[in-house]
Amino acid sequence: MDRYSRQELYRNIGKAGQKKISESTVSVVGMGALGTVAAELLARAGVGNLILIDRDFIELNNLQRQSLFDESDIGKLKAETAAEKLRKINAEVKITAKNIDMTFENISGIGNPDIILGCTDNMESRFLLNDYALKNKIPFVYGGAVSDRGYVFNVVHGGACLRCIFKGSTEETCDTVGVLNANTAAVAAIMSNEAIKIILGKDYEKNLVRIDFWKNDFSKIKVAQNKDCPACTGKYEYLSGERKSSLVRMCEKGSYQIRGRKKDLAAVEKNLKKLGEVKMFNGLLHFGSITLFEDGRALVKAENETEARKIYDRIIGN
Ligand SMILES: [Zn+2]
Repeated sequence: MDRYSRQELYRNIGKAGQKKISESTVSVVGMGALGTVAAELLARAGVGNLILIDRDFIELNNLQRQSLFDESDIGKLKAETAAEKLRKINAEVKITAKNIDMTFENISGIGNPDIILGCTDNMESRFLLNDYALKNKIPFVYGGAVSDRGYVFNVVHGGACLRCIFKGSTEETCDTVGVLNANTAAVAAIMSNEAIKIILGKDYEKNLVRIDFWKNDFSKIKVAQNKDCPACTGKYEYLSGERKSSLVRMCEKGSYQIRGRKKDLAAVEKNLKKLGEVKMFNGLLHFGSITLFEDGRALVKAENETEARKIYDRIIGN
């Protein structure tokens, strides 16, 4: 009973607020720098149900900022690994891990939570979440962090949405400018706090929060609904699949994702073993420059798209 005593003593929460928190469900989409920190804060705060979604596996360069992972996790799936850690932190929380590459076709997998936390790193997935949240009237807390700059915005039906604010649609945050771990931690902390306010039915932030973390400059930018915004006028271009990325896309410099057909990983492993070392974890397989997921997706390290496709066809085939 003592677990939440410090939170219950806090004037805006109390015992009644804590009960609300324990009855809430939050979907955290993206288990990277923002998602791991935000999910940890929410689990410690006692959010009753957490749904964790991620498509990726853990790499050494993630450890600088992705707080739930350690060296022994390298190569494992992010959503699953984060769930295991969170269960040790708070066994009272019901945690569901989903290893999916969120698209307009499978986005219903994030369920019907009270709040969606958008912790992904690219505009396309944010706009997809934006559509889903508006259509289903689920509050959606957006966060973004790159270099020393961060943004947080609450998308709530009736107010401005991400498409009212941001124009870009296909740009990816390539890891070219780096990111401060204190910046991502701060953005994730603001996001989880906004989620708690919304769960409690308290006044949440209506402005776009902008941070210049190097200068300790926190500002609020007033934003208004755009009357020509497609999403706000019920035209969900990302959710309908009207706007979607192609089969092959670049994830970061020198890394391409290819969407292939569902694979029997054990069978693939058997074949590849003859050619070299294969590493298998629950739900994924690593071989040379290829990482293959159960759902048929592959991440290929290559110079360009054509080469990535060639490597995929040669090693994995159709
Ligand atoms: Zn809008």
